[in-house]
Amino acid sequence: MRDRTNEGPFPFSCRTTVGKGKRSRDKGSGPGTVRGIFITGTDTGVGKTAVACALAAWCRRQGIDVGVMKPVATGGRWWSRDGISRWVSEDAIRLARAAAVDDPWPLVNPVCFKEPLAPWTAARREQRPIRLEVVLKAFRTLSARHEYLIVEGIGGLLVPLTARATVADLAGRLGLPLLLIARPGLGTLNHTLLSLECLARSRLPCHGVVINHTQRPPRHPMGRLAERTNPDVLGQFARVCGTLPFRPGLFRSGRGATRQLAAWISSHLEPRWLTRLVASG
Ligand SMILES: [Mg+2]
Repeated sequence: MRDRTNEGPFPFSCRTTVGKGKRSRDKGSGPGTVRGIFITGTDTGVGKTAVACALAAWCRRQGIDVGVMKPVATGGRWWSRDGISRWVSEDAIRLARAAAVDDPWPLVNPVCFKEPLAPWTAARREQRPIRLEVVLKAFRTLSARHEYLIVEGIGGLLVPLTARATVADLAGRLGLPLLLIARPGLGTLNHTLLSLECLARSRLPCHGVVINHTQRPPRHPMGRLAERTNPDVLGQFARVCGTLPFRPGLFRSGRGATRQLAAWISSHLEPRWLTRLVASG
């Protein structure tokens, strides 16, 4: 199977961002002023948190002062410390652990709801609208604290956050380039190309697609065949930056956890590409 990592042309505009410093439209944080990446996915459950944590762990081991953010989350857990109680997302806790940061939760995870629903649905049920200006303010504060910022989205690009704004709109407001995480199996071609189409229409810069195995390989040979053949087909449309294998126990804590996370990403995505990714973010 051919490696299309450095080939082109691709029909989608998300091919050109690494190393070229091109920025998205931005109305909130100042284009070009913040180095970082917005991790999005073709759907929920594709492993955005795993990739974001692994990238944070890798940055940390490279000596990069990395900050993390989960701007909007649902299905949080109740957290009490130092007289402050609030809902905090498990993703945010994992991200902060991977990056070894102790930034306050209102910065790392400014919006979190109790119910594990789509964000606007949870916001409407709790009668607590999502205020993007709160997210942008936390983002600007975190950006000033760290050299590089990894932001994990919620669900896919067209998940509504308010009646007027989607995750894609939020990514545009933050002004960061994106990385799209996709499933490996049957159905991923449609989901991935829809997401790339959305990025192109929104003129959001994207570093490319990472295919992530969140489960063991399927038992059925045809399921395995789809997983084997999809990367090459996706590579005809966009830059496929690599395929990450299923790795159980990625989020364990304790000795060696950071090293394991960093090794997972650096042994399957080209280290030179990772270096360029962080340098160009
Ligand atoms: Mg997640």
